[in-house]
Amino acid sequence: MTGDELRREVCDEVRDEVRDEVREWLRTTWDPELSLVAWRRRLMDAGWIVPSWPVDCYGRGLPSWADAVVQEELDAVGAPGAPFGGGMTLAAPTLAAHASAELQRSLLPVTLTGEVTWTQLFSEPSSGSDLAGLTTRADRDGDEWVVNGQKLWNTSAHHADLGMLVARTDWDVPKHAGITYFVLPMAQPGVEARPLRQMNGHASFNEVFLTDARIPAAHVVGDVGDGWRVARTTLMHERGFATMRKPRVGRVLGRAISEAAAEADEHFRTYEWYPQRAGRADLVVEAARTMGADDDPVVRHGIAALVSLQRANEWTAKRAAVARALRRAPGPEGSLGKLAASEVARRSARVHASIVGAAGMLTGPSSPLGGVIAEVLVSTPAQSIAGGTDEIQRNIVGERVLGLPGEPAVDKGVPFRDVRR
Ligand SMILES: Cc1cc2nc3c(=O)[nH]c(=O)nc-3n(C[C@H](O)[C@H](O)[C@H](O)COP(=O)(O)OP(=O)(O)OC[C@H]3O[C@@H](n4cnc5c(N)ncnc54)[C@H](O)[C@@H]3O)c2cc1C
Repeated sequence: MTGDELRREVCDEVRDEVRDEVREWLRTTWDPELSLVAWRRRLMDAGWIVPSWPVDCYGRGLPSWADAVVQEELDAVGAPGAPFGGGMTLAAPTLAAHASAELQRSLLPVTLTGEVTWTQLFSEPSSGSDLAGLTTRADRDGDEWVVNGQKLWNTSAHHADLGMLVARTDWDVPKHAGITYFVLPMAQPGVEARPLRQMNGHASFNEVFLTDARIPAAHVVGDVGDGWRVARTTLMHERGFATMRKPRVGRVLGRAISEAAAEADEHFRTYEWYPQRAGRADLVVEAARTMGADDDPVVRHGIAALVSLQRANEWTAKRAAVARALRRAPGPEGSLGKLAASEVARRSARVHASIVGAAGMLTGPSSPLGGVIAEVLVSTPAQSIAGGTDEIQRNIVGERVLGLPGEPAVDKGVPFRDVRR
């Protein structure tokens, strides 16, 4: 037996042990009549809610494959797992990595049970790509910070309880050094979230106006002035964001299950266009057959090129996941994957357009694929903007992966107060 085969066999054995343990735990503990929160507390107390997280952050410190194993076992008995959304994917990993033990204790459990929801308050009208150039300010006032400024493109801010906020706390140091990361309570008079209507008709994000908004001093994540490092953790998780699909809910029996179904409905109302934003490459073959274009050589060529790129990207993502599971240092896959996802979305929109022609502009149930194509055409531009634009990703690849010289900058080492804006 080779070293690799032996390693694989040992891995399989450990995986089976974890599967057996969670299966037995579910057999004795899963109770669909519990409230959703009470059920998630059980999952959390046993370390099964995200088993790959550290033990002191309600996990079990297992490799990341354990998350998938536990999810499969939860699905097998129809039990809900962790909640969806930015609380789990962005806020909780950031808190786990940087927050004080006190803040972790007060905010992680309610995030893991879904009792609080989150929004990301990073972008501003003139600071998106140049996020470190942000000008929302926070000034210390006794036991609180007072925040003034404007944020923009903040997904779900209109119904979030807490905001991951980056604000400038020191204007006399270079731009990256004067930022602090806060947890902002959203329900207060100084916070006004105004929904924005997108060109696809949905209203997922907001502009958020902060006027003398108050934040308890204990809500600083990491150290004052070290917010850029903390924000990079959030951004790293965002760039790895997978395309979200609404879970299939079987027969709704039991309180925990019906509460989870209602929670998923509410959550996915914000994200219902996200599959379209990724281009719906999965629908091109069906669209070509439905429209009788499946024997058109140009269409066939477009589909083959698209599906090849999409499959190659899936394999790259899998390679990255395996490297993570083996605790190898992150390679270039993350940045390449995000760029490739943008390319898949754009190509997919073009292939759909070549199949349906002008009918792709029609919306509503009687249009091609029930209006999905029209939604793809006006949603895919978001793919190459959200979580960092393609140009910014290319800069990252150029500088950090290929080791090319950095972009010219006029603000390096200059106190932010003196930077020309
Ligand atoms: C679906 C979606 C959801 C989002 N959700 C959130 C959210 O929840 N919270 C939040 O805070 N933000 C959110 N955003 C905002 C997002 O992070 C920003 O839109 C993004 O970072 C780009 O910033 P910008 O819109 O200000 O564009 P700009 O930074 O103004 O960029 C404009 C153009 O200039 C190019 N450009 C800028 N700088 C450079 C450079 N140095 N080199 C080369 N080209 C450059 C860009 O690539 C782009 O093409 C969301 C955006 C989308 C589309």
